[in-house]
This record gives sequence, C-alpha cells and structure tokens, in this order.
Amino acid sequence: MARYTGADCRLCRREGNKLFLKGDRCYTEKCAVERRPYPPGEAGKKRVKESEYRLQLREKQKTKRIYGLLEKQFHGYYELANRQQGVTGENLLRILESRLDNVIYRLGFAKSRDEARQQVRHGHITVNGRRVDIPSFRVKPGDLVAIASKARDLLVIKTALISSERTEVPQWLEVDIEKLQGSVLSLPTREQIDLDIREQLIVELYSK
Ligand code: SF4
Repeated sequence: MARYTGADCRLCRREGNKLFLKGDRCYTEKCAVERRPYPPGEAGKKRVKESEYRLQLREKQKTKRIYGLLEKQFHGYYELANRQQGVTGENLLRILESRLDNVIYRLGFAKSRDEARQQVRHGHITVNGRRVDIPSFRVKPGDLVAIASKARDLLVIKTALISSERTEVPQWLEVDIEKLQGSVLSLPTREQIDLDIREQLIVELYSK
C-alpha cells in the first residue's frame, strides 16, 4: 500500500502538535515542533483563519498521521465505527488502538508506530503463538502478543525496550518484559487513550 514517505517532522509541524513519529528524538530538544513551532513552508508563519471545516479537517489529518494511515483506510475505520453501537468517535479510536502495530508500540516493543509496523511486516510478531505479519490485524481481549523467538535478539527491539522505560503501558494492556510478550486485558476506554484528539470533530467532518 502506498504510504507517505516525506519527512515525519513536517507532519507534526503542519498539525502544530507533537505526533511522536520518530521515537527517542520526539523527547529531546531536537524535536522540530519545539524548535520551529509554526507550519512548514513560506506561508507557515502567516496566521490562517480557522473555519469550522478547517478545524475538523486538521483533527482528522492529525489522527490519521498519528496512526500512520492513508485516507482510504482511515475512512474505512470510520465507517466501521459508525456501524458499531456506542459513540462513533470513541469507537473509531478504539479500533485504531486495537491495530497490532499500535499494540506493539504501546507495549514498548517499538519506539514508534512506524517501527512497530516494520516489525510486524518482517514477521517478528506472533499473536496467540501464530505469526501475524499484517499491521492492521486487530487484537481482541484475551490475545497474547509476543516477539517471535527468532527476533528476540534484535537490537531494534532491545533499544525500544530501553527507551520505553520512561513511558507507561496503558491499563488495557499488560506487558511481561522478561518473556517479551503482552496480554490484551480489554479494549481501551476513551479515558485510557492518552491522545489529545477531539474525535467528535472527525465524526462531524465525515457526517457532512
Ligand atoms: Fe514530531 Fe517527533 Fe519530529 Fe517532534 S521529533 S516533530 S514529535 S516526529
């Protein structure tokens, strides 16, 4: 599938928010949002009028970029969320959080969702003992996610584990660092998703 291949930091600057796309660098003073807190490009420093549509669009773009998705797939998740019972915006975030690449990142086995996606694609991840190489695979409560035995000595995973010591694993997951595995205790509630996203704006945008 085609992906955005430009500079990650430009995406953060475009959204005016840290999207944590580059692992360790995001926590340092080298972060581009900290150094240049205005949108990229010549017109970046000019004030742009915020219309309702623009706010909705930006919120959608921001969320899409946090999870590293393209429009078609993101919209598909919205459609799915809309068909589910409950609050559509919360359903949407729950679906996004349950992606395998996100779970690997949340468990601290990768420094970014992008890195997690690579690990899954390269066959380094198992779910309930079976190799899964589809980053969009959705976990469910009771699933056991693990680093495949052949990948346990990978430097990239060890480095990610060290850098993840500063971040907490969310309550809906449980990690066993010794065994390099994690359990899905439940799907997350909105309160357990620590992202500054106004999901209602996304729902309003797609409902037009
Ligand atoms: Fe975004 Fe991380 Fe780059 Fe900062 S360092 S702009 S948070 S990707």
